[in-house]
Amino acid sequence: MAATIYYDNDADLSKLKGKTIAILGYGSQGHAQAQNLRDSGCDVIIGQRPGGPNYDLAVQHGFQPMSLEDATKKADIVNILLPDEVQGDLYRQCIKPHLVPGNVLMCSHGFNIHFGQVEPPAGVATLLVAPKGPGHLVRSEFVKGGGVPALIAIGDNGTEETKQIGLAYAKGIGGTRGGVIQTSFAEETETDLFGEQVVLCGGVSELVKAGFDTLVEAGYQPEMAYFECMHELKLIVDLFYQGGLNYMRYSVSNTAEYGDYTRGPRIITEETRKEMKKILKEIQSGQFARDWILENRAGAASFKAARRRERNHLIEQVGRRLRKLMSWINAKEV
Ligand code: NDP
Ligand code: MG
Repeated sequence: MAATIYYDNDADLSKLKGKTIAILGYGSQGHAQAQNLRDSGCDVIIGQRPGGPNYDLAVQHGFQPMSLEDATKKADIVNILLPDEVQGDLYRQCIKPHLVPGNVLMCSHGFNIHFGQVEPPAGVATLLVAPKGPGHLVRSEFVKGGGVPALIAIGDNGTEETKQIGLAYAKGIGGTRGGVIQTSFAEETETDLFGEQVVLCGGVSELVKAGFDTLVEAGYQPEMAYFECMHELKLIVDLFYQGGLNYMRYSVSNTAEYGDYTRGPRIITEETRKEMKKILKEIQSGQFARDWILENRAGAASFKAARRRERNHLIEQVGRRLRKLMSWINAKEV
């Protein structure tokens, strides 16, 4: 079954005429979506706390940022673009009391609405428009005349009108230039969490570290292990991106291709696949959401400990040194 995908001609920006859109949070997504909408002729206001660089950036970009409360009061459409882990508390304190029937409550990731941390009051529809890319790309692609593809989902109390608003919003940020896939809050939230845990962030980081550690423990030079297990990954991923697994396998040597077919399944085994299913169940049942919400209630103690530990892994130390010597790669430090 093919997905329903919307493009520019399916969306009508006039659906946002006369409506004030509040962007709450001028961070990665907020700064990009707000500016794109304004360039598309929409009436955009910003809710952003003062005292940090994001507030100053909003001012620099010609906005007059106000409190989350005031922005919510003034808006017809309220998009919560705050970090997921603070949305529940901020919503209950500063946003929900100021929503009125007919407002549309938006987000770019369904976590809080799907897992019941953000519950719309009666008469308020929920709507998700989620760009499938980081904020700086949402902005830079738009400026170039392109757009980052996006997802759209209509939640509780949503109607055909809500969907039209969502498509217009997606057009305003450039999403319909790339294509906007129709989904549900459950599908967006669950697949997003699964992807980042199992493949994109969790799976690939562990795979890289395990390969690196194996070579180093066997006495090979850490620099060799770094190039082999981390640096070269980009070259492989670029081939996936352009032409899938087939193109990667076409581009590498026959020896590498044979090793892929015969050794790969010994790394990602039946047991790994079973564990993936278990992780998916934990996402679907809300167990992961509960863990993450409680972790934050506890001041994120284990999260911070893990972050500290991971930062000092040998691959990070070696990598930092090697990347400095490759001026063209635009090395970043956190
Ligand atoms: P960021 O962390 O980049 O920005 C968060 C904004 O919220 C900042 O302006 C920050 O202000 C403000 N903020 C943070 N904490 C508080 C607080 N306690 N009180 C008031 N304001 C606060 O968030 P993202 O743009 O990354 O994420 C926003 C949403 O977009 C999330 O739902 C995320 O899942 C989703 N999303 C993000 C993507 C991405 O690539 N980043 C991709 C797709 C979806 P300050 O500067 O003062 O801290
Ligand atoms: Mg994601």
